[in-house]
Amino acid sequence: TEDEAQGQQAEALPRAPVVTVMGHVDHGKTSLLDRIRTAKVAAGEAGGITQHIGAYHVDTPRGMVTFLDTPGHEAFTAMRARGAQATDIVILVVAADDGVMPQTKEAIKHAKAAGVPIVVAINKIDKPDANSERVRSELVGEQVVPEEFGGDSPFVEVSAKTGKNIDALLEQVLLQAEVLELKAPVTVAAKGLVIEAKLDKGRGPVATVLVQSGTLKIGDVVLAGSTSGRVRAMIDEDGRPSKEAGPSIPVEIQGLTEVPQAGDEFMVMADERRAREIATYRAGKFRNTKLAKMQAAKLENMFSDLSAGEVKILPIILKADVQGSQEALAQSLLKLSTDEVKVQMVYTGVGGISESDINLAIASKAVVIGFNVRADVGARKLAEGNGVDLKYYSIIYDAVDELKTAMSGMLAPEKREEIIGHAEIRTVFVATKIGTIAGSYVLDGVVQRNAHFRLLRDNVVIYTGEVESVRRMKDDVKEVREGFECGIKLRNYNDIREGDQLELFEIKEIARTL
Ligand code: GDP
Repeated sequence: TEDEAQGQQAEALPRAPVVTVMGHVDHGKTSLLDRIRTAKVAAGEAGGITQHIGAYHVDTPRGMVTFLDTPGHEAFTAMRARGAQATDIVILVVAADDGVMPQTKEAIKHAKAAGVPIVVAINKIDKPDANSERVRSELVGEQVVPEEFGGDSPFVEVSAKTGKNIDALLEQVLLQAEVLELKAPVTVAAKGLVIEAKLDKGRGPVATVLVQSGTLKIGDVVLAGSTSGRVRAMIDEDGRPSKEAGPSIPVEIQGLTEVPQAGDEFMVMADERRAREIATYRAGKFRNTKLAKMQAAKLENMFSDLSAGEVKILPIILKADVQGSQEALAQSLLKLSTDEVKVQMVYTGVGGISESDINLAIASKAVVIGFNVRADVGARKLAEGNGVDLKYYSIIYDAVDELKTAMSGMLAPEKREEIIGHAEIRTVFVATKIGTIAGSYVLDGVVQRNAHFRLLRDNVVIYTGEVESVRRMKDDVKEVREGFECGIKLRNYNDIREGDQLELFEIKEIARTL
C-alpha cells in the first residue's frame, strides 16, 4: 500500500525501548512501577497529575524508557496470544527475601519464548532477610545468568521501597536497548498496539494505544482490531490534551466506534470507508449473503496480498520423557523446515505437560507434543478450553510423519495453468448496453464465461484478462465448443481487432506436499 511504500522510504530513527515488568505476585512489580513513576512526578515532569492510562514514559539523562503499566505476565501473555509483541525488554522482579517462585519461572519462559532480553531487579534489598546470592544462583538454575558470570542478563539490587538503585536499573535497561538498536520511522502514518481499552460513560470508547511506528495525529482514521473511527481527542499519560504521538509514546484516544481489545493492532488508514469495511468484516457482522462472501473474499485477498511471500511458522512445544528422545525428536522436527514453512521450537523440556506449558502454547499459538509423557488434568482442561492442539507420540517416526502432513497443509497451493481452447476473432462490433463484442469462431476446445484469456495478435501476447460473458444466438451461455461461432465480451478490454486470437485457460490450485 501507499503507507507501506512510504514507511520503507521514511528514515527509521532511534526510539525508546518499551518495557514490561514481570515477576511473582507480591515481589514488588506494582511498587517498582509506582516508584519509577513517582520519581518522574517528583521531578516535576508530570505537573503532579497522576493519570493511569496503562503506560508511561520516563526521561533519564541517558534516554527515554516507556513502561507498560500493567504488571504481570497476564497482559504480556494476552498480547502474545494475539500475535502482538509490545515489549522490547522485560524487567524480571524477584524479591530478595523470597527467591525464584512459580510465576518467576513462568515469566522467564514467556520472555525467552518471545526472545526478549531480561533485566533482573532483585527487589526488597532493604529487608533484613534479603539474600541476593540465593536469588542469583536460583536464577542461574533457570538459565537466567548474570553478566558477571558470563551470561547476558544484567542484575540490579533494588528497593522499590527506599528507591535504592532505581537509577541503575533504568541505566541497565537503556544499555540493553542500545544493543537492540531500536528504530522506527517517524514521518509516516502510525501503526501500533492497543494496550488497554474501556467504555467511558462520558467519552465513549477510549483506548490507550502504543505507537510503534509513525506519528498518530488528531483527525487520523484508525483501524483497531474489529473497530474503526476517527481520532477525536488524545490525552497523554499525564492527562494533558495532546495533538500527536510518535514511536514508543502511549496515548489515550477517543473516537473509535467500539471498544477494541488489548493486544489489537491499530493502523492509520487513508480511507475511512475501507477502515470501516475491514472492521465490520473482522467483527463477523456481514451476513451470509453472496455480496458479503464476495466482500469477504476481496478483503481476505487484500490481507493475503499483504502477507504474500511471508514464511509460515509452525510453533511447537515439546515435552519428552528423557533428554535423549527430547533432543532426537527436536532435531528431526527442526529438519522439516523449508523456505516456506518453518518449525519453531518455542520450548522443549523433560517431564509431563503442565498448565504452564499450555499457557505458553496459548501465547505462542503452538502445538504441544508429548513424547511418552501426558498432560495432567489441569493442563488437559486448559488445552481443551483454549483449542490448543495436544498430540501424544511414542515413536519418533510417527511424530515426524504427522507433522510433515500438517506442514504440507500450510503450503500455499501451487497454481497451475491449463489451456482449455482457442478462438479466432472474425468480426468486432459494439452492442448497445453490453459494449465491444468479439464475434468469434471456436477453433478448438471451449470458450467459457469467466475463463482467463490471452489476446494474441500476430502470435504476440498483447493482453491477459478474463472473459466476462459468452453469447450464442442472442443467449447468454456458459460455454461454446469447438466448431461454433459466438460473441465474446472481454472484461474491461475493448481494443480488439479482426484476426486476433484468444487463448483460453483455467488456473487450477493444486495442493502440495513436502
Ligand atoms: P506485586 O504483586 O508484584 O505488584 O507486588 P507489590 O508491589 O504489590 O508489593 C507487594 C508487597 O511488597 C507490598 O506490601 C509492598 O509494600 C512490598 N514491597 C514492594 N517492594 C518492596 C521493597 O523494595 N522493600 C520492602 N521492604 N517491601 C516492598
